[in-house]
Amino acid sequence: MNFADLGLSAELLRAVDDTGYTEPTPIQASAIPSVLMMRDIIGVAQTGTGKTASFVLPMIDILAHGRARALMPRSLILEPTRELAAQVAENFEIYGKYHKLSMALLIGGVQMGDQVKALEKGVDVLIATPGRLMDLFGRGKILLNGCSMLVIDEADRMLDMGFIPDIEEICQKLPKQRQTLLFSATMPPPIKKLADKFLENPKTIEV
Ligand code: AMP
Repeated sequence: MNFADLGLSAELLRAVDDTGYTEPTPIQASAIPSVLMMRDIIGVAQTGTGKTASFVLPMIDILAHGRARALMPRSLILEPTRELAAQVAENFEIYGKYHKLSMALLIGGVQMGDQVKALEKGVDVLIATPGRLMDLFGRGKILLNGCSMLVIDEADRMLDMGFIPDIEEICQKLPKQRQTLLFSATMPPPIKKLADKFLENPKTIEV
């Protein structure tokens, strides 16, 4: 399997080529074509399997066309920690270098001013930890009804950290008509339940 067989655009293949990666990892090979076909996905995969690129790459192509409006992010990636959120943002910068997507990182422990400014300009990709997202939502600084793509990353860690009620609340604020991708190293019952409730006919990929 080759990156060129996955259905990604020429610009993305160029960005991947620049990283020096020659072959997609198993989760990338399985997930990328399905995400591009707009399917919901459950990816049972640990960190280190290349799972980040398995959602970042197709998201860039899906979001390549279209315009972000003020306060209305077009996609949302939920991460349990600031560090993971920052890593995902880095991935968007690496793979999105030939695209003009706007991105905002909403994490706790930093001032809200710049985050609010970014939201006001409009963002294609919003990467957030649940706490800060809920906080800004409560202040009326984010509208989630224009968000047609959701990634719940490291769902089992979200569970350990007590974020599931926040995630349920966030899911309910998103449009019903959307694509949802859930990644988790393990699938304990509360995560299965979450997936049953918020994903539609998902393809499960285990690596
Ligand atoms: P992740 O599982 O997303 O945390 O990725 C683990 C590591 O694998 C990261 O350092 C990536 O940069 C790297 N990586 C991602 N995709 C590939 C690939 N196709 N070939 C080699 N390394 C990769």
